[in-house]
Amino acid sequence: MRVLSGIQPTGQAHIGNYFGAIKSWVAQQELQDSYFTVVDLHAITIEHDPKELYLGTLELFATLLAAGLDQDKCTIFVQSHVAAHANLAWLMECTVSMGELNRMTQFKDKGRGSESVRAGLFTYPALMAADVLLYQADKVPVGDDQKQHLELTRDLAMRFNRLYGEVFTVPEPSIPTIGARIMDLSNPTKKMSKSSSSPAGIIYLLEPADQIKKKISKAVTDTDNCVEYDPQNRSGISNLLEIFGVATGKDPRSIAQSYSSYGALKNDLTEVLVTNLAPIRDRLNNLLDDKAELARLMRMGAEKAEITANETLRRAQDAVGFVPRSQ
Ligand code: ATP
Ligand code: MG
Repeated sequence: MRVLSGIQPTGQAHIGNYFGAIKSWVAQQELQDSYFTVVDLHAITIEHDPKELYLGTLELFATLLAAGLDQDKCTIFVQSHVAAHANLAWLMECTVSMGELNRMTQFKDKGRGSESVRAGLFTYPALMAADVLLYQADKVPVGDDQKQHLELTRDLAMRFNRLYGEVFTVPEPSIPTIGARIMDLSNPTKKMSKSSSSPAGIIYLLEPADQIKKKISKAVTDTDNCVEYDPQNRSGISNLLEIFGVATGKDPRSIAQSYSSYGALKNDLTEVLVTNLAPIRDRLNNLLDDKAELARLMRMGAEKAEITANETLRRAQDAVGFVPRSQ
């Protein structure tokens, strides 16, 4: 069973990324042939600062290692280090239709119909399809927000196979059941996102303890002061219970029963998060101090990824009728 997941270096990793994705990746590397990629090509689909992208890519790669991913158990690589991604993305752009891309809700959300929006944001799902299909992944664990893109990836794989012959494995989505969606603390109807304009609602993996305390204490709730898990009607307090639940492995409803005030819940949640995140922060700081080792680990991942990616790309190029360059 082969599994691929990606994360964008669009900003610092937050607890939504960790509890919704990275934590389950760490468990998964023991069980499945796993590929994890820092998708820097995707990060330039929106306005970006080159220096921040550079540092953010190094930091995110190191964060994956600090969280427990291990280059000897899985393959962790930077997307732009493997040229086959951009190459296969072009074949995918020539497989997908404008109508399909127009229906993607993430483009509607982030693009908002503005004229200056980058064309790459519109064609992003074609690149994502290439990312997954290059590795012949059987499963792609995705949060709610990426479900629609994975559905499109499946359609494109089936269409390509039908048009040109069997080249791609059609991947299945695997949605993590707990921690699937952590919401923004200051706007709990919106998901927590790295690229959000306000950091107040985001708890970063590297957030110092006093900041975690401050952000949790300011988290938006309601005025009822009745601790109850009801995501539909009481999104703020339910989000805090949800975070408490994924961090401790307990059911949010049973956590709710042990608290009679928001203040007490917020205090304990702060404590739980500080304890969970401290070891990751320590390992990350050590890794960032040893740039040569970080570079070695990046090269190792790219070399491993390339073996599979280049083979799939060549098969796809042969299938559409491209003449191979002679050796
Ligand atoms: P961006 O705002 O740049 O899209 P992001 O925070 O949404 O950043 P991604 O890089 O898009 O992060 O996603 C990385 C992984 O984290 C994906 O598997 C995604 O489903 C998951 N993820 C992202 N945000 C959340 C969240 N709030 N709750 C749970 N999982 C999340
Ligand atoms: Mg996202």
